[in-house]
Amino acid sequence: MDIFQIINELGEHREDYYNSVSPPIFQTAMFSSKTVEDMRKLIANESDEPFYTRGVNPTVKMLCEKLASLEHAEESLVFASGSAACSAGIMSQVKAGDHIVCVQKPYSWTKKLLTEYLPRFNVSTTFVDGTKESNFLEAIQPNTRLFVLESPNSWTFELQNIPEIVKIAKKHHIKTFVDNSFASPLCQNPITWDVDLVAHSATKYISGHSDTVAGVLCGSREEMKKVFAGEFMTLGAIISPFNAWLLLRGLRTLPLRMERIGITTEKVINYLENHPKVDKIFYPFHHSHPQYTLANEMMTGKTGQFTIKFHAKSVKDMENMCNSFKRFLLAASWGGYESLAFPACIFATSENYQSADFTFDMVRFCTGLEDAEVIIADLEQAMEKL
Ligand SMILES: *Cc1c(COP(=O)(O)O)cnc(C)c1O
Repeated sequence: MDIFQIINELGEHREDYYNSVSPPIFQTAMFSSKTVEDMRKLIANESDEPFYTRGVNPTVKMLCEKLASLEHAEESLVFASGSAACSAGIMSQVKAGDHIVCVQKPYSWTKKLLTEYLPRFNVSTTFVDGTKESNFLEAIQPNTRLFVLESPNSWTFELQNIPEIVKIAKKHHIKTFVDNSFASPLCQNPITWDVDLVAHSATKYISGHSDTVAGVLCGSREEMKKVFAGEFMTLGAIISPFNAWLLLRGLRTLPLRMERIGITTEKVINYLENHPKVDKIFYPFHHSHPQYTLANEMMTGKTGQFTIKFHAKSVKDMENMCNSFKRFLLAASWGGYESLAFPACIFATSENYQSADFTFDMVRFCTGLEDAEVIIADLEQAMEKL
């Protein structure tokens, strides 16, 4: 199946609803049965058939089928947020007394889950520099059950060699989880390297319109049945049918948006690389990235998130620059139609702030669908403030 067959056709049942081209939104909490026997059958099959919308809803199911297929997975479950998808995936693999090895500097709420929430249930985590596969091997304990990866990871975009780490995991009967949000399902498919669970914040590229918070978890039918019966149904962080419909709408243009964003970002990076105000570029597809070769081996297309460390003397300078953006909006998140800037100085409020993650002079950007020239002109005028 080609990408557009997945996006335009897979999971659509137009003959069932007047051949409408765009699917209806099944805005219902439950589905009725004609007889007691029918109802008995439905509830026995709650993970596959529409019975109650916390389980299966047809609008959501259509989205699940498309996203699973895009990730080369047997099945997927869509959640109310990317964090819900990541938590469900990670929690489904551990019990009290277990141990996790996670890449250092994962997404902030994944880190919270591992450092603050799961320890309450006696699940511990070791964080390792993921750029060296052997660090995962060395961190294995007799009770290690799961490797948590995010490649590239947030803010500084270090990669992990996913296929090599999976080999280590398999040898030790350890499961693997990858947060694949950065790459989108179009640019990297960890399941093809035998990763067990792949999650996305669908708020980002999958939605693409900055109007929906959502997440997806993909894996084998067996794994997803386990998650369905466990975290999905009990914690109940489901997406509404309307938000699922918005994601179906966003998906229709995902390949076009990714292509455009890749081309634009390359132009912006080319402009920035020789700019005197730029100290360092964090972008896996820039030749200065220490894992540039690996990035091009693992990912099949460029994406639009990068971080710039500027030559700046003070937090005030950074604030002046960021306050003068005319096109970039100052906001969290990324992956939408609009260019965004997230200044690290909102956390690093002093020049002396020391953090392994970032310093006051860094800004994380994501490019939207504007012309590269527009974005470059905005950066140009703002950098004059430095
Ligand atoms: C945004 C993000 C998340 C969390 O997703 P939400 O939809 O905001 O809950 C998880 N991982 C990564 C890499 C993200 O960028």
